[in-house]
Amino acid sequence: MERVFLEKIFKLGRVPGGLLFYGKEGSGKTKTALDFSKGLLCQNKITWGCGECPSCRYISEFTDKFFKEEIEDLKVYEDKDGKKQFVYLMGEHPDFIMVIPHGNYIKIDQIRKVKEFAHIKPALSKRKVIIVDDAHTMTNQSANAILKVLEEPPPDTTFILTTNKRSAILPTILSRTFQVEFKGFSVPEIKKLAGVDEVLARLSGGSLKKAILLKENRKLVEKVTNFLKNDPLEVFKIATEFEKWDTDKQRLFLDLLEHFLTEKALKDRENVEQYSSILDKIRIFKEGIPRGINGGLWLVHISSQLSS
Ligand SMILES: [Zn+2]
Repeated sequence: MERVFLEKIFKLGRVPGGLLFYGKEGSGKTKTALDFSKGLLCQNKITWGCGECPSCRYISEFTDKFFKEEIEDLKVYEDKDGKKQFVYLMGEHPDFIMVIPHGNYIKIDQIRKVKEFAHIKPALSKRKVIIVDDAHTMTNQSANAILKVLEEPPPDTTFILTTNKRSAILPTILSRTFQVEFKGFSVPEIKKLAGVDEVLARLSGGSLKKAILLKENRKLVEKVTNFLKNDPLEVFKIATEFEKWDTDKQRLFLDLLEHFLTEKALKDRENVEQYSSILDKIRIFKEGIPRGINGGLWLVHISSQLSS
């Protein structure tokens, strides 16, 4: 697994100046990048961090805030022509920054600031770490600018790029970074890392992100089970609630519905056609979510298919 490999290069003191973590969404790239940064910056030089030194504490705080989506607290702006412009995320640690897309892209102005940061001396730790999250969102200009630093990274700076679209990364960047593939998590790993039970771990399908979302929305599993009982009053109640949920929660509900229906279809082979037509509808439904379709109505429609 990825972690074992990272541990090895850490212990051998062979961490390259540029790493690229790639793999599907929810396979733990960003979490591992943050954990590995903790170790790289740890004042006691412990793999994955000692957890006690000021450096480790700052990175832990950053990680907590990042995953709780308290991103506003971490945003650093620069003043440009009297306007505030977002550049990167930074917590209390002076030697650590994380670049995330501004809007849909990582822009050239952001990378210019990153380059400045790469060339200052570390203040607390022995080195600096720069995470570039969703690196495929770099514009061509940004990618070419970062390439120059990756070609000759300052000796005390480590870059960790993450992406779920390796095909969208410039080949020149691929050749300048050491690539580590993330294959997703096994059920026991999910149980341990997300602190969930066997059922939720299986439902997450190897995605840490989804497991955490499921843990926060445990009641959703219950709602899906109730929905499938197809009692008209209950369906109506759920359909009304559904419209008030945010899109992540709506999507999670539909993922779960899809999962349970697929299981039913596997057991009930005689009605497989009926199930596959409902499953198709759910997929169309999911695609419509970002466009703001009337979700409640769709759910009632799907439930009517269940009974026929
Ligand atoms: Zn430490």
